[in-house]
Amino acid sequence: MICVLSGGTGGAKFVDGLRQVMPAEEITLVVNTGDDLLWWGLYVSPDIDSITYVLSGMLSRERGWGVKGDTFLCLQAMGQLGEPTWFHTGDRDLAMHLLRSRLLAEGKTLSEATAVISQKLGVKARVLPMSNSRVETRVDTPIGELSFEEYFVQRWYQDPVKSVRFAGASDAEPAPGVIDAITNADAVLIAPSNPVTSIGPILAVPGIHDALLHARGKIAAVSPIVGNAPVAGPAGILMEAHGLPSSIAGVAQAYEDFLDILICDTRDSRAAEALRQTGLRVQCTQTIMRSAEDKAALARETLSFVTASLLREEPASDTSFRRLDRQP
Ligand code: GDP
Repeated sequence: MICVLSGGTGGAKFVDGLRQVMPAEEITLVVNTGDDLLWWGLYVSPDIDSITYVLSGMLSRERGWGVKGDTFLCLQAMGQLGEPTWFHTGDRDLAMHLLRSRLLAEGKTLSEATAVISQKLGVKARVLPMSNSRVETRVDTPIGELSFEEYFVQRWYQDPVKSVRFAGASDAEPAPGVIDAITNADAVLIAPSNPVTSIGPILAVPGIHDALLHARGKIAAVSPIVGNAPVAGPAGILMEAHGLPSSIAGVAQAYEDFLDILICDTRDSRAAEALRQTGLRVQCTQTIMRSAEDKAALARETLSFVTASLLREEPASDTSFRRLDRQP
């Protein structure tokens, strides 16, 4: 069993690769919900949507979000009615939001609603929200605090970022199954997702960081930063606002308490060599995922790095001791 911590863009591409190279039934995803929003009165969970769409073969690979071949007639009609249209939801995508909202209104938890939708769409992997409690990523900027989607989609991440916080995290609990999936996985993979606003909220849910410290399997992260810049999006800006350099060293630092293996791009092989001096295992490979083949190759490489580290290495307990030594 593999457990993957993921956001919705780099994460979805990586999961697209994994599902090509291993049985989906053996994958549990712990997905960020810090970007969730109420849109036109509907509960939208952008990262769960992207992960669900990629696993059901529905994701638009061109856009990287939403349903392939979708139309946007409702969006146009809402615009004509004077409603906000900055968050793009396609017509078929709306079906997901309508059904989830109805299930939540009937009293189901987000986990339960996600499981119902997964089952209806034939998703074989287990998709778990990080928490059923509301945890909201808030980005502080000179114009005030913004939700992640306001910062990212509405304002095109143009505002300088002062800080990022996860409102509600300290009172949140991990969703059912999350701790067990992390602790007992043969390997935990951290997708090439934004370390601050996609993986950060997951780590902020009490109990999850601790589960990573006690994880039985190896923990490997794929860097979303290549050559000191994110492949796309604001990860570099957000990492710097969080006191982390925009580099593979910054990614390693974000996960330093529990990380066993960092997988970075071959373009970063010099930085990788420097990072190895700290004792971290760092592996370089091609990490830019353009085609289905790139995605499968990265997933295959990631799994083989984890397996190789098990074969070559110290008994598993050594790593656990290392992790526990670092426990605050
Ligand atoms: P979000 O929920 O939309 O923010 O999506 P994620 O956090 O899952 O993904 C965003 C991150 O994916 C960005 O920081 C990108 O640098 C990274 N990313 C996107 N495409 C690729 C890729 O092909 N390779 C790698 N290594 N990272 C990527």
